[in-house]
Amino acid sequence: MKKFFILLFIPFILFAYKVDIQKWKSYKTFYNFLKQNNLPLSIYYNLPINLKRYVRFIPQNETIFLLKENNDFKEALIPINSEKQLQIIKTDNKYNTKIIPIIYNEERKEVQVTIDNYLSYDLYKATHLSILTNKIIDIFNDRVNFRTLPKGTTITVVYNAKKRFSEIKDVKILYAQIKNNFYTINAFLNPYDGRYYDEKGKSLKGMFLKAPLRYKRISSKFGMRFHPILHKWRMHDGVDFVNKIGTPIHAVADGKIIYKGWIRGYGRSVKIRHKNGYITLYAHLHGWPRGIYVGKWVKQGTVIGYLGNSGLSTGPHLHFGVMHNGKWINPLKLKHNVKITLYGKQRKKFLAYINKFSKENNIALK
Ligand SMILES: [Zn+2]
Repeated sequence: MKKFFILLFIPFILFAYKVDIQKWKSYKTFYNFLKQNNLPLSIYYNLPINLKRYVRFIPQNETIFLLKENNDFKEALIPINSEKQLQIIKTDNKYNTKIIPIIYNEERKEVQVTIDNYLSYDLYKATHLSILTNKIIDIFNDRVNFRTLPKGTTITVVYNAKKRFSEIKDVKILYAQIKNNFYTINAFLNPYDGRYYDEKGKSLKGMFLKAPLRYKRISSKFGMRFHPILHKWRMHDGVDFVNKIGTPIHAVADGKIIYKGWIRGYGRSVKIRHKNGYITLYAHLHGWPRGIYVGKWVKQGTVIGYLGNSGLSTGPHLHFGVMHNGKWINPLKLKHNVKITLYGKQRKKFLAYINKFSKENNIALK
C-alpha cells in the first residue's frame, strides 16, 4: 500500500516519469497488454493459477494505470475485481507481480432533483451516474410505484461516492427521500445491519423478496400434482420457477445457511434458516458461488446458488420451498411485504444515529 502511494506521487516530482491512465479495452487480452508494452510473457506464465484465471477475464472498460520512466516500463495496476488489483513492478530488470487492494477515495455527496421527465433521466442529468437510479428503485420499490410518480416529486439523496483515479466506481446511499403532495418517505441506511429504515425504525423492504430469482414463468405451483418423473400423485411442496441454467438465485431473507449439498430428488440444494421460524429451500441448483457454506450468515439478496437441473428434474428450474414452524407452506402466499420493525436496543441505536446524521446533513425529520 505504501509503495503505491510513493509511486503515485513521484510523477509530480520527477518529470522523467509519465503516468498513463488507460482503458483495458485497448488491449483486450493480457497477452496483448504484455506485447504492446514490451513485457516478457513470463509474467503471465509465472502467475499463480487462480490469477491466470482472473487476468483472462478483465472487464473491457476497466481503468488501468501505467507508470513509465523515460518510456521504460516501471509499474502497472490492473483491477481484477472491485476490491483487488494486479500490480506489476519492474525493479533491476526483474518483474514482480502482487495482488494489492484497490484504494478508493470516498466522497460525501448530496443531490436533489425534481422529477420533470422520469427518474432515470432526471437523476442522470443531475449526477451523471446511472447506478444511482437502480439503487433508489431498489430501496423504495416496496413502498413506491415508480411508474406513477406524481409530477413534481422531489428526490433527495445523500451518498458516498467510491472513486478510483477520479472515476466513480460505486455509490453507497446513506439517505434518500421521496417527497410529493401525497407522501414523504425517508430511507436511512442503518449502519448496524445494512438495511434501510424510515425515521420510525420500520424497514422499507419486506422481510422476504417476492421471488428468489428473475424467472420466465412458474411451471408448477404448490399443491397436489401428478409427478412428471415418478408418474404418481404427489404433494408438490414448493414452487418451480423456470429460467436459464446459471441464473443467479438470491436468499429471500437474511438468515443462516443450514444446509449445502445434495438432497435425494432435489439435487444440489441450499437451506437457510430465518427469523420467526422460517426455513427456505433452493433446489436443483447447478452450483454455488464461492463463499457459500454451512454456518454462513447471508443478507437478503445474496446470491446463494445458480439455477440448474440437478436431481429429479425435467428441465432447468428452481424448486423453491418455504417451511414455517416445521410445515411446508405456499411460497406464493408468503407475505413478502411484512416489514421489520426495530425495537429495544437496536431501535435506540438507530434513532440516535439518524438524529446525528440528520443534524450533520441538514435533514428535517418531521
Ligand atoms: Zn418443484
